[in-house]
Amino acid sequence: MRINVITIFPDYLEGPLGLSIPGRAREAGLIDYHLIDLRAYTTDRHRTTDDEPFGGGGGMVMKPEPFDEALRALERPGHVVSLSPRGRPFDHDTAVRFALESDLTLLCGRYKGIDERVGEAWVDEEVSIGDYVLSGGEPAALVVIDAVVRLLPGALGDHDSAASDSFYEGRLSAPAYTRPAEHRGRSVPDVLRSGDHPRIERWRTGQADAATRQRRPDLLDLDAAD
Ligand code: SAM
Repeated sequence: MRINVITIFPDYLEGPLGLSIPGRAREAGLIDYHLIDLRAYTTDRHRTTDDEPFGGGGGMVMKPEPFDEALRALERPGHVVSLSPRGRPFDHDTAVRFALESDLTLLCGRYKGIDERVGEAWVDEEVSIGDYVLSGGEPAALVVIDAVVRLLPGALGDHDSAASDSFYEGRLSAPAYTRPAEHRGRSVPDVLRSGDHPRIERWRTGQADAATRQRRPDLLDLDAAD
């Protein structure tokens, strides 16, 4: 898989993409990140990527031409996604869908966002990582990339095991414990030390269901618990 990211801050992403699971997946040849500096596609001396908004109001808007040129320069843009608080919520199912693409291109906005005509011409979908406003699309791109890359076959080792993570089965995960068995007067539930794996599985399922019911009834199509 290849992920292109168009941004005015490629350095923002370089470090995190070299670490942990995204970094290991790149080393293993499962993924290739292509960080594209939007300013390389400007034509003026100041390498300008923004301009005043039509219709007035505060803030600047990202110009369409540099995005257009950067996208044209890509041999295979693939599925083009714009990070935006106006987008549909990014969730597990969206990550699964993106992980099935061979080429994904992420557009990072800044200021008041990207000129709408870029969206009309190029963007397959806009996604939001939550109901809040970030200063730029770069942290959102990192969130999307991390969630997608860990779904690629071979990206996770056994110790990172994804199958028992939240959202895989449409609910939250069970709580996790490690050594020591006693810590500052708090004990690990006995069942987890019983060695009785069917019982442990039942306990985990019960815990996962209870947490989901209480914290995320929307995942079960239920009304919020008291
Ligand atoms: N004026 C825009 C609005 O109100 O919808 C907000 C622009 S925001 C300050 C600048 C950029 O940050 C956006 O173009 C987008 O790329 C990114 N961004 C901000 N919040 C985001 C979110 N919740 N999810 C994804 N991207 C976000």
